Amino acid sequence: MSFRYESLPVLQEQLRKQELSCREVVEHYVRQCHDHRHLNAMLEVFEEDALIQADRLDEKLRNDLPLGKLYGMVIAVKDVIVMKGKEATASSAILQGFESLFNATCIDRLLAEDAIIIGRTNCDEFAMGSSNETSIHGPVLNAADETKVPGGSSGGSAVAVQADLCMASLGTDTGGSIRQPASLTGTVGFKPTYGRISRYGLIAYASSFDQCGTFTRNAVDAAMLTEVMAGQDPHDATSSSQPVPDYAALLEPPAKLRIAWYPQTIDNGKLDPEVKQQFHDLLEKLKAAGHTVESVDFTYLDYLVPTYYVLTTAEASSNLSRFSGIHYGHRTEVTADVDEVISRSRSEGFGEEVKRRIMLGTFVLSSGYYDAYYTHAQKVRRIIRNETLDVLSRFDIIITPTTPTTAFAIGEKTTDPIEMYLADIYTVQAPIAGIPAISVPLHTHSNGLPYGMQLMAAPFREDLLLAVTDHLMQHFR
Ligand code: GLN
Repeated sequence: MSFRYESLPVLQEQLRKQELSCREVVEHYVRQCHDHRHLNAMLEVFEEDALIQADRLDEKLRNDLPLGKLYGMVIAVKDVIVMKGKEATASSAILQGFESLFNATCIDRLLAEDAIIIGRTNCDEFAMGSSNETSIHGPVLNAADETKVPGGSSGGSAVAVQADLCMASLGTDTGGSIRQPASLTGTVGFKPTYGRISRYGLIAYASSFDQCGTFTRNAVDAAMLTEVMAGQDPHDATSSSQPVPDYAALLEPPAKLRIAWYPQTIDNGKLDPEVKQQFHDLLEKLKAAGHTVESVDFTYLDYLVPTYYVLTTAEASSNLSRFSGIHYGHRTEVTADVDEVISRSRSEGFGEEVKRRIMLGTFVLSSGYYDAYYTHAQKVRRIIRNETLDVLSRFDIIITPTTPTTAFAIGEKTTDPIEMYLADIYTVQAPIAGIPAISVPLHTHSNGLPYGMQLMAAPFREDLLLAVTDHLMQHFR
């Protein structure tokens, strides 16, 4: 069977006409996963479960039973989102062998709408990283150039879509972990508003930032997936009760958009000159198409990454304190008293980057420094949010490049954490402010690698981001 995936509406049409079956589709993806094992994107392929689900769906169609909204969609899931009866490791040694007793809410919602889960994807350990190099399972290779990183932390999910190992995948985004790898792999990476999708069943990194989102090939698939996963959940008190619109029916953007851009992001020594030129060209094209495009001062750029790292490490140091080696996960072989067992299990089980962040977070929360760092960063977060919302009260969209460069070489930044953290310079603003953002794959660099442009919008304007993404991909690529 020769099969090329375009979008979910097209696939569902083909399935309904019985031009192909869910079983054939799943068999295709299982083969793809097998043939691309060297990319290290998939940690586990659920061949048997996926085929059972496929047969069940084919049966439903034959019997003319009602079909779910995501009927036939083959999805891979980042290894920080738990699935019942499946291992969930957060790519960490400390969780090796841990099996979840329940499904994350987003997984239950996908399955209830007839999606097919094909497997679990590699990521940075506890979603901490920008290159997928901190995973205990080893790095993921970028399918556009296998000597390059795919970005992180959701690198496996990005490559799973890039290399056609699935139709769409789930990631989590705390500071850019969906949008940055989406940019480096030429996929659509969408992080909804904080609280739009339940965090129940996500292995927490920084709870006031974490949000589940999607990698897709196009806007319509992101729209359909988000609609299914979004909405209030009694298991997550921070999930929003705002009604969830039918995003896929709202893919037409307003004829005249008001678009803001920050000169500070562009006059930045770290920005690749070619990305900068493309960004300016895109602004000119948008103006020529009749949109309002204005530069707006944003003087807080230099504060974004420090604010992000003070607050997220503080939250991580608390969230990760539950991994003690006592109840589950890795436990040291050494027999000793309970404190010693916990301390050794944690020393053995956590990787270097995770330890660095736990120590940093513990430091900024320590009694002598709490006000100087943590309280201070909370205040700066509020200022950044207010400033961002102020711009978004006057403009529909803020546009920036998603990443300052295209994918970098494996190993290039591993010895310099600060350099690595700066890869997030454009993506941390949205989670600091709690707003939705998307990376749109618009360009290919002369070095042959893809990169994206980022759009941000006001809270709960997912509809607008998806509509503009659809428009840009059709007319500005
Ligand atoms: N790269 C960022 C970090 O290392 C973002 C991670 C994320 O969004 N989970 O923290």
